[in-house]
Amino acid sequence: MNLILFGPPGAGKGTQAKHLVNKLNGFQVSTGDMLRDEIKKDSEIGQKIIKDMNDGKFVNDEIVNKLIKNVVFDPQKRDKLIFDGYPRSLSQAQNLESLMDSSKQKIDFVFFLNVNKDTIIKRIEKRKILEKRSDDDLNTILKRYETYMVTTKPVLDFYAQNPNFYQIDGTLKIEEITAKIDAFINV
Ligand code: AMP
Repeated sequence: MNLILFGPPGAGKGTQAKHLVNKLNGFQVSTGDMLRDEIKKDSEIGQKIIKDMNDGKFVNDEIVNKLIKNVVFDPQKRDKLIFDGYPRSLSQAQNLESLMDSSKQKIDFVFFLNVNKDTIIKRIEKRKILEKRSDDDLNTILKRYETYMVTTKPVLDFYAQNPNFYQIDGTLKIEEITAKIDAFINV
């Protein structure tokens, strides 16, 4: 089973992805984590992306799509993909469709965790203390939210037409969201 967790920064995608990894013996495909790893390693990619990430801007598609392609075509991860933070733009969604087609896989579920701006700000300010992420300060949060609204909203419209699209209230408690997801996937 392959699925997408979709929603604004701070919606709880990462938390639910970890639950699904355990439940389905799957792989979390977090482009944010992959990009942060590149920065930590101080790789060539890391050096290219550090500024955009700290400014709350998108990293360019070419870099992100390449990371995703490697994962989609990894035989060990096949049909166990839990996307968290990808796709984030219409062109990424189209890229993913084409990668899934050419690797003969499909997306079984798209879950949209819907959260309002005030909740996001409160959650990310808490996460900043726990995880010490350099892109979790208030200005960057607002920028990331704005980027989400402009660029990521069309992805929502793209998936909302699919019968396997489910919207979940992301302001619910973690366990309540988990229970809803579990009921939809029914395993
Ligand atoms: P996240 O951990 O998903 O909140 O992502 C943190 C940051 O990584 C974002 O603000 C972007 O700068 C970058 N990023 C993560 N995923 C993507 C993506 N799919 N496309 C472009 N940039 C991304």
